[in-house]
Amino acid sequence: MKPVTKLIHHPYQAPGDFASPQQAVYKASTVFFNNVDDMRQRQWLDKSGYTYGLHGTPSTFTLEERLCELEGAKHCVLLPSGLAALAQVNFALLSAGDEILLPDNVYGPLKTLAEGELARFGVTHQFYDPMDPHDLSTRMSDKTKLVWLEAPGSVTLEFPDLPRLVELCRAKGVPCALDNTWGAGLAFQPFHLPSTTPGESLGVDISVHALTKYPSGGGDVLMGSVTTCEDDMARKLKLSHMRMGFGVAGNDVELVLRSLPSMALRYRAQDLNCRELAAWCLQQQAFAQVLHPAVVTSPGHDHWRQLCASDELSEGPVHSGGLAASLLSLKFQPQITPAQVDAFCNALQLFKLGYSWAGPISLVVPYKLKEMRKHAPSQLLEGGFVRLSLGLEDPADLQSDLAQALSVALAQG
Ligand SMILES: *Cc1c(COP(=O)(O)O)cnc(C)c1O
Repeated sequence: MKPVTKLIHHPYQAPGDFASPQQAVYKASTVFFNNVDDMRQRQWLDKSGYTYGLHGTPSTFTLEERLCELEGAKHCVLLPSGLAALAQVNFALLSAGDEILLPDNVYGPLKTLAEGELARFGVTHQFYDPMDPHDLSTRMSDKTKLVWLEAPGSVTLEFPDLPRLVELCRAKGVPCALDNTWGAGLAFQPFHLPSTTPGESLGVDISVHALTKYPSGGGDVLMGSVTTCEDDMARKLKLSHMRMGFGVAGNDVELVLRSLPSMALRYRAQDLNCRELAAWCLQQQAFAQVLHPAVVTSPGHDHWRQLCASDELSEGPVHSGGLAASLLSLKFQPQITPAQVDAFCNALQLFKLGYSWAGPISLVVPYKLKEMRKHAPSQLLEGGFVRLSLGLEDPADLQSDLAQALSVALAQG
């Protein structure tokens, strides 16, 4: 054999007894078979074998198994972003003539997917008020084939009565899918929710997780997952996933696998930072409302408390128990002008202007809620609004940064 051929047909095989904390990165489009029979018989659907990179590698199967562990699920598929994971659930389950229900405070790009591709394919949608279970109930009809849930809403962070909403879907026999990016499998268990019927189990049918957020934790990977406990649901998801050709890269999978062991610690540390700043923001005159599920005056605080901090007692304006993701939204007083809100964002030094969250760096995004919402209290929609994502910096430094940016903005009044 010539060297050029030897470079391709290399004889070295890694010995089987190499053990270290991190698994090797497996990358493939092509996967080899031993013979034609093997090629014809091998199955990827039940993870008993490998057939093609898109249908799984040891790296992707490992991450899928760990995410099942995290979310308390049985099956998992990986997608190249959180948004792709949301899209995939719709594509796998819906047909022309079906209708989906979306919470009014839904993650924005899912709303635009419903208005774009889903509408073009003949799938209609309606928005429901997530804080009013009766509103969801009256909107469900024979056409409703999927209800989307989010706890809390992406930008305004109202926490719904999630078990109640799931019970309503269950009663009508409509599958429900939760965008579980905020809870991340840590704050509550979406497949094991408290049920009002003792002894009965209550859970969502599907959980979607933007792994881009806490599981990656670095602000440098895009990935998403869809998990379920139901075999027939998993089969639909996997077959549709295969036909659409959604794959994830081995190196990206490695990054997420490397970050998962520290995820619970990061979640807690960022949560503490966030609640410390929420308490400080509550004392600032400039803010009319501080939105965070652990803030006692925040919409849905009691629902959060029941689900995420059930038996823990605490005093004061910010509940200290349970777990919450590190997102904090601030509504400015009406007299603070849009230009002043922009000046506040521009003046921040440690908080960077940028989308996404749950990375090490704190972020800020200004929002125009009026353009985003149908069923929201009008006082929420008036005036400036920003969402902060708390990173892992020292909270005292973050507080000084907010204070100096606030004085810059107020000086422009
Ligand atoms: C970021 C996010 C997504 C989408 O994740 P990407 O990987 O950025 O596509 C979906 N849902 C929620 C709630 C998110 O915050």
